[in-house]
Amino acid sequence: PVLPGGAPARLSIDLDAISANIATLNEVSGNAQVLAVVKGDAYGHGLVPAACAALRGGASWLGTAQLAEALALRNAGVTAPLISWLLAPGLDFAAAIRARIDLGAPAVWTLDEIAAAAREVGETARVQLKIDTGLARNGAYGADWPLLVEAAARHTADGSITVTGVFTHLACADEPENPSNAAQQRLFADAVRDCERAGFALEVRHMANSAATLLLPEAHWDLVRPGIATYGLSPAPHIGDSAHFRLVPAMTMTANVTVAKRVPAGQGVSYGHTYVTADETTLIDVPCGYADGIPRSASGRGPVQVAGHRFSVAGRVCMDQFVVDVGDLPVAAGDEVVIFGDGRDGGPTAQDWADAAGTISYEIVTRIGNRLPRAYQ
Ligand code: PLP
Repeated sequence: PVLPGGAPARLSIDLDAISANIATLNEVSGNAQVLAVVKGDAYGHGLVPAACAALRGGASWLGTAQLAEALALRNAGVTAPLISWLLAPGLDFAAAIRARIDLGAPAVWTLDEIAAAAREVGETARVQLKIDTGLARNGAYGADWPLLVEAAARHTADGSITVTGVFTHLACADEPENPSNAAQQRLFADAVRDCERAGFALEVRHMANSAATLLLPEAHWDLVRPGIATYGLSPAPHIGDSAHFRLVPAMTMTANVTVAKRVPAGQGVSYGHTYVTADETTLIDVPCGYADGIPRSASGRGPVQVAGHRFSVAGRVCMDQFVVDVGDLPVAAGDEVVIFGDGRDGGPTAQDWADAAGTISYEIVTRIGNRLPRAYQ
């Protein structure tokens, strides 16, 4: 979307990179199918265009956290198999059933509400059972699991639901040696057996996020669920960067310099004067700030590239802008500043910003504000 009046900073999304990343993940995951995780507005990349790019790249499923995200995909004409797994009581399960969206059920209440909605709609709901094998988050835990299977068997027998899958989520997949991975795998294998014993005709059994897709082949089962890797970012930067995993970051953020000025040595910069110029120098004003998702915690550290040279944010990140000390580099109003991109030519990446802010790349890309227009290539 083009904002009326234009915008001083913007995102460019490389949809071919998303398709290529999915092709790589398909290759890595062998016989398993790929479900592209497109929750959180496709990790900030734009729900519908990113989902379509993932399908073009060979994803056979899409997954969202919220039901509204899945319905938005159906409303946009996406017909691929689709699962939504973060459900709360009172959601419009009837709409989900009509839209042929698989529903991830972590609890008996979920099955009961879905079954009631199915009877109302007069169709059989597609449900995937979610077991908590050790993340201690969403999913049926401990003694609640057999109760979930029992409830699912009851609702299957009366025709209100069909159990199409079983899944879980790993806590430490980015640490392949962590013993919790094997422990979760064992519990999941038991859960699969429970489903088979109950007579469910499972289409898919799945547990692998991006890290497990790339690092834990034993976790692939029938379907892998990569999120961050779909967008070209490494799920395990302590092991390897995007290039190491043959991934290409899809999001590039750029802005145009608003003002370039010469200042003398000793000039304090931005709120609080936490940065002071050492020599006479050129300061440039970059028109994006924490309202655009630039983390204030990266003040003094966040990297940018100007005319092929790398610099760091000088002083504090403000709501709409930050300042960079470019020394004697000739820079003028209108020149382009790369905040982050695919990292080619030594440019900064979302991972670099995550390191500068003490967070993960997931948070950098998903928190980019809505006022930045996104252009798709
Ligand atoms: N599967 C589920 C259930 C998730 O909640 C997520 C995201 O947290 C993913 C898969 C994708 O995770 P990642 O982005 O680490 O690949």
